[in-house]
Amino acid sequence: MSGGDMAKPLLGHRSVEGDQRVAPAAGRTVGVLGSGDFARSLAIRLVCSGFRVVVGSRNPKRKAGLFPSAAEVTFQAEAVKKTDVIFVAVFREHYSTLCDLADVLAGKILVDVSNNTEINHHKESNAEYLASLFPACTVVKGFNVISAWTLQSGARDGNKQVLICSNNQEAKRIVAEIAQVMGFTPVDMGCMSSACEIENIPLRLLPAWKIPIFLALGLFLCFFTYNLVRQVIHPYIREQKNKFYKIPIEVVNTTLPCVAYVMLSLVYLPGVLAASSQLYYGTKYRRFPDWLDQWLQHRKQIGLLSFFCAALHAVYSLCLPMRRSHRYLLIETAVKQAVEKKMNIWVEEEVWRMEIYISVGIIALGLLSLLAITSLPSIANSLNWREFSFVQSTLGFIALVISTLHTLTYGWSRAFDENQYKFYLPPTYTLTLLVPCTVILAKVVFSLPCVHQRLLRIRRGWEKGRYVKFVLPSATGEYSSGETSSNV
Ligand code: NAP
Repeated sequence: MSGGDMAKPLLGHRSVEGDQRVAPAAGRTVGVLGSGDFARSLAIRLVCSGFRVVVGSRNPKRKAGLFPSAAEVTFQAEAVKKTDVIFVAVFREHYSTLCDLADVLAGKILVDVSNNTEINHHKESNAEYLASLFPACTVVKGFNVISAWTLQSGARDGNKQVLICSNNQEAKRIVAEIAQVMGFTPVDMGCMSSACEIENIPLRLLPAWKIPIFLALGLFLCFFTYNLVRQVIHPYIREQKNKFYKIPIEVVNTTLPCVAYVMLSLVYLPGVLAASSQLYYGTKYRRFPDWLDQWLQHRKQIGLLSFFCAALHAVYSLCLPMRRSHRYLLIETAVKQAVEKKMNIWVEEEVWRMEIYISVGIIALGLLSLLAITSLPSIANSLNWREFSFVQSTLGFIALVISTLHTLTYGWSRAFDENQYKFYLPPTYTLTLLVPCTVILAKVVFSLPCVHQRLLRIRRGWEKGRYVKFVLPSATGEYSSGETSSNV
């Protein structure tokens, strides 16, 4: 799995945390326009962080009781006069109602905390719109990615990053300083043109997970249908047997490991494709196609979903003997054996097969758990690059090999039994083996010394057909230069 989306900050921009010019801010008077949820939480946090807070409301008498007693709640114009930094905790639609305050607001810093209800809702960002309404003010976009709840609970809980942008460095510095004193981590997102991007962030729903989730659902649907046909529809049509009770647990439980196993192999397949492309073109400087790039970036999420399916499979498997259907079938088999006077039903090969396949399955799940845990940012950050790569790459590949053993011992000789070909469909496990075995085979080929060495050279910058300058000493001891192909 890739190193790490989750290990990175929300957005990889420069933190203004360590700015040497930052001066102590606590004690400064900060204004808040609005008396809603966000304004209230902001005022509480600011008061707790040592700021003097003045709240501007259209109806201060009614709203004063909602704020901490240390905060002054007054009319908007009064509040604005008392401070140079004002948080505008008002929805964009109501910005125009603040235009009466334009004169008193002139020269002040306005912090736009607003969000939209849709991505790219308006042509210009809310912050740019506010700046256009108040050209004599300096607008800073910030704090919109922090919820009212996070503000109340403090920076101990929830997201700590406050993304800030503005065209004015000094204003940005002052707001960053306030965020820092409040216990948040200010992240400099550059100039005002980034406001749109910052406003879109809270509206995105798990952007990195969309493709992996659709992939998992797609695989689940395919394998589920396949298993349904083999385990339920086939006996119903061919033998008029009602096996529909198998759908909620048995069919799901045979589908989950298929998804987990194929997803795990899909974590390593893009690496194999990337290496093959590098070997084929003899260079690492050729861009991969976009789909491969995307795939490489989603490996962590694909791996975590594989672990999720494997964990569900383990729980489902543990529950199998608890079912009524299982108990009935067990008793029915026992009665049949008693009637037929069969005393010894022990099949040594079956016993061994099951012992091995369960044991190997547990080990595979253990390794997948390790991979999932080490992909957590707090754990990943405590590992050096080599440790991380060992766990994610080497142990991950071992997990794939062990999962293959689990699948093979589960399937055993069923692939060679013609009764297993329901409607001529091969047993499901044979299908799941296709991609993982291709990946394992490719990895074995890449580990052959001749291939491995070539791949290593390419990854260190060597290129096929590239001419390099060399310098040779002549017979007279003088040096002469020439050119040769580096791959000769
Ligand atoms: P809210 O509870 O509805 O508060 C909005 C406040 O705006 C009102 O209490 C009102 O205060 C004031 N206001 C000023 N002029 C107004 C007018 N013409 N009509 C109506 N109200 C007017 O909303 P909120 O949740 O605090 O959100 C405020 C801003 O913070 C929004 O831009 C939102 O996108 C942003 N935000 C909110 C959260 C959150 O978790 N809630 C998180 C991030 C960003 P007075 O009546 O006292 O004037």
